[in-house]
Amino acid sequence: MSKFPSNPVFSSLPTTIFTHMSALAALHGAVNLGQGFPDEDGPKSIREAASRALIEGPNQYPPMRGRIELRKALAAHAKRFYSFDLDPDTDIVVTSGATEALTAAIMAIAGEGGEVVLIEPSYDSYRPIVEAMGARVRTVKLAAPDWRLTEEALRAAFTPATRAILVNSPLNPIGRVFDRAELDALARVLAASDAVAICDEVYEHLVFDGRAHIPLASLPGMSERCLRVGSAGKMFSLTGWKVGWVTGPAALMRVVANAHQFITFTTSPALQLGIAYGLEHEMAFTLNLTRALQANRDVLRAAISGLGFKPLACEGSYFLTADIGGLTNESDRAFCERLVREAGVALIPLSVFFADGTPVNLVRFAFCKRRAVIEDAVGRLEKFFN
Ligand code: PMP
Ligand code: GLN
Repeated sequence: MSKFPSNPVFSSLPTTIFTHMSALAALHGAVNLGQGFPDEDGPKSIREAASRALIEGPNQYPPMRGRIELRKALAAHAKRFYSFDLDPDTDIVVTSGATEALTAAIMAIAGEGGEVVLIEPSYDSYRPIVEAMGARVRTVKLAAPDWRLTEEALRAAFTPATRAILVNSPLNPIGRVFDRAELDALARVLAASDAVAICDEVYEHLVFDGRAHIPLASLPGMSERCLRVGSAGKMFSLTGWKVGWVTGPAALMRVVANAHQFITFTTSPALQLGIAYGLEHEMAFTLNLTRALQANRDVLRAAISGLGFKPLACEGSYFLTADIGGLTNESDRAFCERLVREAGVALIPLSVFFADGTPVNLVRFAFCKRRAVIEDAVGRLEKFFN
C-alpha cells in the first residue's frame, strides 16, 4: 500500500483473475485453459500486411479516428454481415483493443449522478471504469443454468438515472448468445428510457450450432442508441495486437472520439492496416475458426462430463462453463487454485464475474486452444480425478 492517497476504485482492485491464473499456470507448468487467448496466431497474410506497413510506413500518428482503410473495411464488414450503413468518417473510431473501446464508450456516457446497468456475470473491465467515472452500477443478475435475460429484471434495474446498459453477447464467461425474444425485451425497456446500450460484441462471429448473432442495433429503433464494440484480436486470433473499435451513430461517436483522443489518441498504424487487409481477405479464417471452436467445445464437453463436471450450455464465445458441485465442496476459487497446482490445469472461477461473489460452484474452461492442448488438459484431469 502506498502512503499516498490514490483512487480507491483502482487501489482496492487485485490484478485480474486472468493474469493471476496465467501466472499460477506458468508457475506450476499447467495447461492453461484459463485466460482466453488462442494458442495459434491468426493468418500469416495479415501479419505480412502489417509487417510491410511497418517497414514501408508511415509510422507517425495515424488519424485520431483510425486509418481510413480500416474504417472503410469495418463499414464494409458491418454492411456484409448486418446490412448496417456506417459512414467511415463519422460512425467509426478505431481503438487500442476492445478494452479501450469499452472504456471510451463508458467514459463518453457515464458520469456523476448517472447509473449504468451491468448484466452479471459481467466481464471484469466494465465496473471499475463505470465507478471511476463516478456513476453508480446497478446489476441484472442472470441465474444458472439458463441465464435468461428477462424484461422484468431489466425493468427493475432501470431508473430515470440510467445512462447506459452494457450488453455482452456472446457473453463471456457463460457463452450465452441472447436470442431475439431477450433482445426484444431489452429494446422495449431501452425505448422507454434515455439510456444507450454499449454492446460488447467481440465474439460476434463465434456463435455455434447454426445460431445467428443478432446485434441489438439491428432491432427497430435501436441503432440510434447503440454503441457497438468489436475486437480484431478475437476475429483473427491476434489478441496481443489490441486493435478494436466502436461504431455507432455520429452524434454519440463524436463524444466517444473525444474520450478516445485522451486515452490513447491512436493505435499502431501498421496493425490497423493489417486488420484492414484481414477484413477484406481473411474472413474465411474467422468462419473456419468458429467451426473449429465448436468442435473443441464438443470434445471438451464430452470429456469433462465423464469426469464428474456438469457442463452448462455454450452457445458461443471461447468458453465452456461447468458445475463442480459433484466433484468438491470447495469454492470455485479454492478448487481452481488446487487444480492448477495438483492436476496441472488452469481454469477460471466464475464467482469473480459477480459483485457479490456468488455462485461459487461454477468454473470456466477456455477452448480456444489447439486440439492437442485440450487433450493434454483432459488427460491430466483424468489422471487427477481417477
Ligand atoms: N470484452 C470481452 C467480453 C472480452 O472477453 C475481452 C477480452 N477477452 C475484451 C472485451 C477485451 O478485448 P481486447 O483484447 O480487444 O481489448
Ligand atoms: N478476455 C480474456 C478472458 O476472458 C482475458 C483478457 C485479459 O486477460 N485481460 O479470458
